[in-house]
Amino acid sequence: MKIMSINAGSSSLKFSLFDMATEKVLISGLFERIGIEGSSYTLKYNGDKIKVEAELPDHSVAVKILLEKLIELQVISTLEEIEGVGHRIVHGGDKYTKSVMVTDEVIDDIIRFSDFAPLHNPAHAVCIKAFKEVLPKTPMVVVFDTAFHQTIEKSRYLYPVPYHWYEDYHVRKYGAHGTSHRYIAIKLAEELQNENLNIISCHLGNGGSITAIEKGKCVDTSMGFTPHAGIMMGTRSGDIDVSIVPYVMEKEGKSANEIMNDLNKKSGFLGVSELSSDSRDIEDGIKQGNEKCILAEEMFVNSVVKYIAQYYVLLGHVDAICFTAGIGENSIDTRLKIVEKLAPLGIKIDVEKNNVRGKFAKINSDDSTVDVYVLPTNEELMIAKDTMDIINK
Ligand code: ADP
Repeated sequence: MKIMSINAGSSSLKFSLFDMATEKVLISGLFERIGIEGSSYTLKYNGDKIKVEAELPDHSVAVKILLEKLIELQVISTLEEIEGVGHRIVHGGDKYTKSVMVTDEVIDDIIRFSDFAPLHNPAHAVCIKAFKEVLPKTPMVVVFDTAFHQTIEKSRYLYPVPYHWYEDYHVRKYGAHGTSHRYIAIKLAEELQNENLNIISCHLGNGGSITAIEKGKCVDTSMGFTPHAGIMMGTRSGDIDVSIVPYVMEKEGKSANEIMNDLNKKSGFLGVSELSSDSRDIEDGIKQGNEKCILAEEMFVNSVVKYIAQYYVLLGHVDAICFTAGIGENSIDTRLKIVEKLAPLGIKIDVEKNNVRGKFAKINSDDSTVDVYVLPTNEELMIAKDTMDIINK
């Protein structure tokens, strides 16, 4: 069975075509700058990578090129071979607690929830419609990034603000990266053959979030009403005192939107280091003794440790701390610094075992109170698996 996993942004479309029997990616790629001058697409296939400049006025042109290429490259011989398409959806509001088959109502809801994810949800809807045009008979499934967090209790998802903000405007915690955290919960349960694990899942990428998982269910997560909240990130500040917003608005004569842009795109690693949002550049800076890089890294580590400690208490008993995504899977130094700060909880790293990148590994020392793992995430596969499961039902 071949299933296509789709992740569409406002000007991009990422895809992976899976052979579900082997869970292997047959071909993957990225369409960039859709609707913007200088658009192109990249395909990864059979160990090769090709990049092609092409006019991509909208998502439907990208979808058409994508399907033509699959046939041209003989990855498939007819479009019917694609038995399902799964779409990643950033926001499912508080309505969707799991992945569902695409219907007109679902598409309307995705558009309705655009207020919460203005850059992403409209693009998802456009992309689903583009696929429906070319593959009208192929079943399609949507996988919501917020769904996994819908098991959080009300006392944890509400903000201590006037209650009617919640009732009238749906102001509450929704969380993000749910597909990744759910993958980690399922994969670790599989690896350890234990479905009753309490896990602190640390998705540390360009965006980052930490989730407390009790026996497969999310009990709290660091992102909030939007993916802005929680730990410090590549270009996002994470949690800050909200009074900073009107204060700097006045100082710099900026609008709320401009300040939000600063907090989203010019903060985090980039803001503090004044150098880069990429943790690899920060690591290089640290090696050269750049003080702002040293400071940025320390602030990042502190923000992660704060959430791990909080969720350690919330869960009462923790079986595993999992590091995943770009930084979590690859940054040996950052993991070391984080785990070293967890010493008061008796959590200890094994420096040798931690010397690993991008593969499943247990990295704690034998006398650690909690096991610590590196576990590569695979959101695309999670989307494809949900799609297959729902179609087969
Ligand atoms: P996103 O999907 O949120 O864009 P990723 O999960 O790809 O982000 O993570 C991007 C981050 O991971 C960047 O800060 C990057 O520097 C870091 N990263 C990726 N590969 C490595 C590596 N080999 N060593 C250290 N950091 C890495």
